[in-house]
Amino acid sequence: MNFTSKHAVITGGANGIGRSITEAFLREDAAVTIIDIDNRPPDGARFFHGDIAEKEVLERFVDSLDKPVDCLINNACIGRCGLLDCSYEDFEYVQRVGVTAPFYLTQLLLKKNLLAPNASIVNISSTRAGQSQPNTEAYSAAKGGISALTHAMAISLSGKARVNAISPGWIDTTRNVFEGADAIQHPAGRVGKIGDISEMVLFLCSDKAGFITGENITIDGGMSRLMVYHNDHGWKFNG
Ligand code: NAD
Repeated sequence: MNFTSKHAVITGGANGIGRSITEAFLREDAAVTIIDIDNRPPDGARFFHGDIAEKEVLERFVDSLDKPVDCLINNACIGRCGLLDCSYEDFEYVQRVGVTAPFYLTQLLLKKNLLAPNASIVNISSTRAGQSQPNTEAYSAAKGGISALTHAMAISLSGKARVNAISPGWIDTTRNVFEGADAIQHPAGRVGKIGDISEMVLFLCSDKAGFITGENITIDGGMSRLMVYHNDHGWKFNG
């Protein structure tokens, strides 16, 4: 994988998984630009402060880019409420962050000829696109949206960019140690690490993944493959 002279743009690159992706590209000597609503960019990245839910912020951000984009990582999203407590405005805001911004950012890069040849777009979805806990509709809808956006854009951008999604399961962003049931409930025997996601982002953006587009890679330690029934394999329903 050679990212020297490549330019990666990462939304939500100041914290958590996005920060790990930013640091991974910086380690590979890529030029990195991040946009984040928080004010703590990693050293070495170009930083644009702003809320990606705002159309005008995305337009100013794209106008500020100093070179074409080889790798666009649509990472930022937020979880906020569901059927029991979500206002119209809250639900819509989550969709703007999680689905509209990835769509509009890609469209702006395309229209302004800022997608480099053979670009790679990686959308960070979630296993929650396909499974849910109660009262999580806003986030689940955003993740279902970005998963579908991924295969749609892969077709529209055929010959211009590859577009793939990663669906993480439980990824620890706190660097806490999770042992016991938290860890061993996963078929892989542990909770996810931020590096599990950033390494896959690098792979999907590399030439090694040149025949992969429109795909969704689940990285959840096997959790969503596990069949769960009461009294089976130590699982108990206490509802
Ligand atoms: P995080 O909250 O630690 O980091 C998210 C980053 O996005 C922050 O820097 C935040 O400031 C930024 N951000 C949020 N809203 C923004 C906005 N409107 N405009 C600009 N920046 C904004 O989250 P994370 O856990 O690192 O998650 C990153 C991605 O991975 C998200 O899409 C999330 O849904 C997905 N994901 C995370 C997990 C997990 O277990 N951590 C699991 C599945 C999917």
